[in-house]
Amino acid sequence: NSPRILYHTSIARFQEAVNEKTTREEHSFQAETRELLNIVARSLYSDKEVFIRELVSNSSDALEKLRYISVQDASVDTQGEPFKISIKTDKFSKCLEIIDNGVGMEKEELIKNLGTIARSGSKEFMEQYQKGVDAQNIIGQFGVGFYSTFMVSDKVEVFTRSHKKESVGYQWASDGSGKYAIEECPNLPIGTRIVCHLKIDDREYSDEETVKSIVKKYSSFVGFPVELNGVQI
Ligand code: ADP
Ligand code: MG
Repeated sequence: NSPRILYHTSIARFQEAVNEKTTREEHSFQAETRELLNIVARSLYSDKEVFIRELVSNSSDALEKLRYISVQDASVDTQGEPFKISIKTDKFSKCLEIIDNGVGMEKEELIKNLGTIARSGSKEFMEQYQKGVDAQNIIGQFGVGFYSTFMVSDKVEVFTRSHKKESVGYQWASDGSGKYAIEECPNLPIGTRIVCHLKIDDREYSDEETVKSIVKKYSSFVGFPVELNGVQI
């Protein structure tokens, strides 16, 4: 073995080790989603707090789905925990998190559900926008679901693991510009955790009292317990 060959083999081994560790993949948002995100991020929509309602309602849907599935199939893993929604605020890191132990998402679901506009509301939104209706009016009228997090966030992370057998956990992350990244994330519980890294001007949504008063407006319509920083609302 010449030193040159040895050198190359050790580089190759090192490269292999790196490849094994990182499963990070970059994806581009579908063109229509990209356009919608641009509009959302730039909009002067004043009622930004609705993003909390959208997150709570998505968590509630995810819990409702798992509750339904687990009633049909007793072998489904609900981790022996009561269904609930937990919200956490951290003023110092300017973060708002929402965690549920609902259905969770597989990789393909993450790509489809968070990378494309499947929901009818968003489709309708783009149709109205293309007709020239003012963006603020349409955001208010149709809502933009998960994408509304980008009205207030520089970066959004989604940690999720599906309830399906032998599922793997994933971390999804995006700054709301054209792309998002997905990588495997070991040891996640079943369910979904969404972390909003708030824009400096929207840091009020990492204030416990502010979030509490917003959540109180909607939580009475949610069929699951909602807690904020460990205390039920
Ligand atoms: P909608 O709720 O109208 O379908 P959203 O934009 O709010 O649209 O969410 C898009 C999709 O992303 C949802 O339909 C769901 O499949 C998925 N999703 C969002 N949040 C969660 C969550 N907490 N748990 C599981 N799936 C979720
Ligand atoms: Mg929704």
